[in-house]
Parts: sequence; structure tokens; C-alpha cells
Amino acid sequence: MQRPPTVDEVRPGQCPACDVSSRPAGGTLGLHGYGLRERHQWGPADPSGVALLVGILLRRYRCLSCGTVVMVVPRGVLRGRLYSAGAIALALALWSVAGLSPAEVRRRVSPLRIVGATAAAGWASLRRWSRAVREGRLFSVVRALPAEATLRQVAARAATTLAACAPGAGGLALDSAAFLGASM
Ligand SMILES: [Zn+2]
Repeated sequence: MQRPPTVDEVRPGQCPACDVSSRPAGGTLGLHGYGLRERHQWGPADPSGVALLVGILLRRYRCLSCGTVVMVVPRGVLRGRLYSAGAIALALALWSVAGLSPAEVRRRVSPLRIVGATAAAGWASLRRWSRAVREGRLFSVVRALPAEATLRQVAARAATTLAACAPGAGGLALDSAAFLGASM
């Protein structure tokens, strides 16, 4: 995260679309560097840190065989989501297990300093993420709960499951462990 990786450091082993090898022995490269793309990652860099909006540079590759463009994304970056995996897990844990109000969770996890009626009323993202977990679109490692489970119960299941994925997190608070487990 501190610097963009070089083209060779993160070149995928093969094209995900046509399976051509990226570095055939003695042959020409199958996947060529195709520049850098910037994207933003929201949320704290560690469980107790200040919420940030970080710009990261992602490497792209183009398959010479089929033309597919591949983007290589660091661990903890979720496709199609602004917040990091760790930030979302932290938010779900603080809301469901630690019992913080949505407004407090937002203050810890969101880099946006929104004040006023919207912030006081809560944080729609918590329910949206929990719904995505329930539908298997986010953190697919989390086992499904019965349909009558509340979104908060789904969030708690996600937090405890992700915390269990964190290596050596035995002495950590559940929210910190969930952050680390989701970032793996
Ligand atoms: Zn290809």
C-alpha cells in the first residue's frame, strides 16, 4: 500500500479469461503491463485508527492472446465497494457486537464528516452491508442464518466469523479481530 508494485511483482500467473500462461518458459510474455489505475479506499488503516480516504494505485495487465484487461487488487480491497474489507468488518462488529449506535460507528469508520439529521438518524451502509452478507454477495465465508434473523444478527455472525479468520487474534477485542480477519 505504501508504493505501487512493479509490473513484475504482481503479474498474474495466467490470464483469468483464456488461461494463457503469463510467463511461458522461453516464450514471450502473455500478459503485458497495461498501466496503473487509481482508486480510493475508505476506512481506518488499523482497527483503532482514524478513518481515512486513501488513494491506491492498482496495476493493470492486458492479455496478448485474448485482449482481456486484468486488474490486480491488494488483499482487503473489495470489488465494487468504497470501503475496505477490514473497515466493513469493523463497522459490523461495532454495531452488532459492541452495541455502538450507527452514528458512533460511522464516526469511527467513515472518513466523511457528515453532520446533521442524516448522521444522527443512523447509517444506511450498516444495513446495506448486512443485507449483502445475508444474500452471499459480501464475505461469502459467513454461513447463512435463518431467514427470520435480523440484519443485526447477520452482522454479528459476520463479525464473529471474520474474527475467527484472524491468525493469532486470541487476545484481541472482537472488532479488531474482525478487521484483521477480513483484511486477510
Ligand atoms: Zn487471455
